[in-house]
Amino acid sequence: NEEALYCIGCGAQIQTTQPNEAGYTPQAALEKAKETGELYCQRCFRLRHYNEISDVRLTDDDFLALLTQIGEADALIVNVVDIFDFSGSLIPGLHRFVGDNPVLLVGNKVDVLPGSVKRTKVKNWLREQAHAVGLRPIDVLLTSAKSGYELDDLLAAIEKYRNGRDVYVVGVTNVGKSTLINQIIRQTTGTQDLITTSRFPGTTLDKIEIPLDDGHNLIDTPGIIHREQMAYYLGAKDLKLVTPQKSIKPKTYQLNGGQTVFLAGLARFDYEEGPKRSFTFYLDNNLLVHRTKLQNATDFYTRQVGKLLQPPRAKEVAAFPELERIQFTPKEKSDLVFAGLGWVTVPAGAVIAGWAPKGVAVSLRKALI
Ligand code: GDP
Repeated sequence: NEEALYCIGCGAQIQTTQPNEAGYTPQAALEKAKETGELYCQRCFRLRHYNEISDVRLTDDDFLALLTQIGEADALIVNVVDIFDFSGSLIPGLHRFVGDNPVLLVGNKVDVLPGSVKRTKVKNWLREQAHAVGLRPIDVLLTSAKSGYELDDLLAAIEKYRNGRDVYVVGVTNVGKSTLINQIIRQTTGTQDLITTSRFPGTTLDKIEIPLDDGHNLIDTPGIIHREQMAYYLGAKDLKLVTPQKSIKPKTYQLNGGQTVFLAGLARFDYEEGPKRSFTFYLDNNLLVHRTKLQNATDFYTRQVGKLLQPPRAKEVAAFPELERIQFTPKEKSDLVFAGLGWVTVPAGAVIAGWAPKGVAVSLRKALI
């Protein structure tokens, strides 16, 4: 009987028989890896070396089992969310599963927000958003896994709230959970890049346990794929294009009623009715923004999607979901949020509509900024 081996990228148990399942490694690669001591599953190997992605997804049963396990544990739950995509970061039903376990809410990617935004305001806003979906975090922290911003505070908070228990780190894919865990490992043990990080949804597979100094563990759970995320519908290259990597420079447009703004071919904002007013767009700095007349917008989209309006690319248009429209008339200054893409701050009383691929959430929230 051979001892079980684990991928040093994602933690999945290595197997050589089922190519489409987690932890698959060709037998030959396994032999070679035993010599070099660098054992990656094929998926992580490809991610590291070629930036390729092959899909292995958690089934709904796996997901349920995972949440149930977390609910039954006596532990601190660290829920990592992307502050740029809060609604796309939510784990459905988490508040019902955690039971009596405290939840520490970590808003990651704080570096993406414009520098002018007050951190306390963002924390309060996050807390409000969490309460609105039934989650009552014991504390809210902001981090940038990328730059290490406030990592010390996070570690201190974890130590304080875990109270001698295990720590489960949970999050949907793409919120930066792996990057954050890597930072924690680096800071606490000095090992570099032990866990695979990438822009592709669903890269972290089996649980990874990181020993803490009192015999307990910090447990990294698989990222949960959220179908309402824009990421779910895009190829790897395009995902890189729409995911903000740097501090966003807001763009303000004076719009008249009857004007449309396309966010590449991915989404659409209509100012349907009202006098000339300002609208501020918070998107990746390089994302194409195109203004046109509302009247012709649907025709224009049909002709230009995959051409002038890219992404999606021409060859992806056929598989890209149709845009669906939702209308709003905010009573107060609000953000119209396109899950995973960004948001538009709109003044009170403007009659507007947001369009996004069928299945991607478009929602209205109290203005963050
Ligand atoms: P996971 O699926 O939650 O484990 O996410 P990853 O750690 O693989 O990160 C997903 C993407 O977000 C990658 O492109 C990361 O570079 C990026 N990312 C992670 N943390 C941060 C952050 O703090 N700031 C920014 N700007 N990007 C981040």
